[in-house]
Amino acid sequence: MTIDTPGTDQEAAALAALGSRVLAEAGHGDMIWGHLAVRDPAGRGVWMKASGWGLEEIDQDRVLLVSWDGERLAGGEGLPDGGRVHLEYHIHTEVLRARPDAQVSLHTHSGTVNAFASLGEPLRPLSHDAVAFAEHGLPTFGATANLIRTPELGRALAADLGPARACLMPQHGLLTVGRDIAHAVMYAVLLERACGLQLTALAAGGPKRWTGHRESLEKDALVWSAGQIEAGWDYWVRRTERPAQR
Ligand SMILES: [Zn+2]
Repeated sequence: MTIDTPGTDQEAAALAALGSRVLAEAGHGDMIWGHLAVRDPAGRGVWMKASGWGLEEIDQDRVLLVSWDGERLAGGEGLPDGGRVHLEYHIHTEVLRARPDAQVSLHTHSGTVNAFASLGEPLRPLSHDAVAFAEHGLPTFGATANLIRTPELGRALAADLGPARACLMPQHGLLTVGRDIAHAVMYAVLLERACGLQLTALAAGGPKRWTGHRESLEKDALVWSAGQIEAGWDYWVRRTERPAQR
């Protein structure tokens, strides 16, 4: 199932649930932590998973509509605890407030990205993956390595993100945004792969060569066109929803 632009509450909740499961399938799970948010089509806030569940456990019934001020407006009625809002909802409310071009934001605790961020190295395009971050760079959040537990920290994160597609959050994780769920999720997948590849090259004593800025921009336009991003997302959806192997 692919819903590019949710029109109803049910579609927005289904999309947030699907994106959560895809992130888990792509290796971004951290027990019950990390989350993805879909902008509410009616402008009331964001749809995101309830606290206390792993990304792979999320279906529509475990998705909440969270107001811009962190109030649970809908969802979670059938859950044992009524549906708790993640403490770090400020990431999504403040970033999506600051980025009207983005419909989806996500935050995971990727170990690979944290290992890369600990080195303080610029991300180099060693394959196709990192060229997705050539145009706007890959900023680093600097205010804290602790949880994004206040609107002020959410705004600081949004400020460091600026117009970029992704932001490192050293000793914590990553943030990506997208004009739709395909872009936001694929940027997280590409960022983790790019960081992992550079870690491999660094461990081998390199890297010594990488794609220059101009060609990176050319590659981004071709390799990560909207059609390619959507094709990658569709692949992850198929992989996530494949029948269990018997
Ligand atoms: Zn976090």
